[in-house]
Amino acid sequence: MESNDTLRHQGLRKRLVDGLKIKGIRDELVLAAIGKVPRHLFMDSGFINFAYKDQAFPIGAGQTISQPYTVACQSQLLKIEKNDKVLEVGTGSGYQAAVLVEMGASVFTVERQKELYNKVHRFLPSIGYTPACFFGDGYNGLPDFAPFDKIIVTAGATTVPQTLKTQLKIGGRMVIPVGNNNKQEMYVVIRISENEYKIEKRGKFLFVPMLKGVVNS
Ligand code: SAH
Repeated sequence: MESNDTLRHQGLRKRLVDGLKIKGIRDELVLAAIGKVPRHLFMDSGFINFAYKDQAFPIGAGQTISQPYTVACQSQLLKIEKNDKVLEVGTGSGYQAAVLVEMGASVFTVERQKELYNKVHRFLPSIGYTPACFFGDGYNGLPDFAPFDKIIVTAGATTVPQTLKTQLKIGGRMVIPVGNNNKQEMYVVIRISENEYKIEKRGKFLFVPMLKGVVNS
């Protein structure tokens, strides 16, 4: 990895982190992780010069790598503590998963598009990140590995899926954008007891939609 992560990239990352601080990101674990993960390696080579701009970009299969500010916000809202067991729905490029691993979480990530899953589950270990990667429909969560301390959904859902709520530990937090295709509101769903959940709303975002089923090609 070293040869592909130059001083120039490191300098650009530092500026990205400074920008995120100005935009209100305070969690030191989040800032340190974004300062470390080589985002340019997650993008198609045609977009490599844009890797450290605070923007979303195409990653193939009609999907996008989330904007760094969005990754930072969701990661901060999760209130990650070392060794937290985290489920991510929507692996995409694998960037968000790498940030969570860098923050010390034990990460389980699910993607519904075979093409993206195939690429990412080989790529991440090649740069030193080893979350558990799964191909499947995130609406089902990962019952075999539940419950989770934290759940992050990186695609826009129309409602909070009941299955995911039940896979949260009591006291656990789920960060999920909820809305329609044009705009979502970031929800933090906290499981207070076996049957009680509290929802906090944390601003408007735009995600690709969370879709049912899998795409096998
Ligand atoms: N976390 C990603 C963001 C990817 S965009 C990153 O850091 O790059 C959202 C991703 O969610 C897309 O790859 C999309 O295919 C996936 N997705 C949408 N609905 C899903 C579902 N039901 N289960 C799993 N993945 C889903």
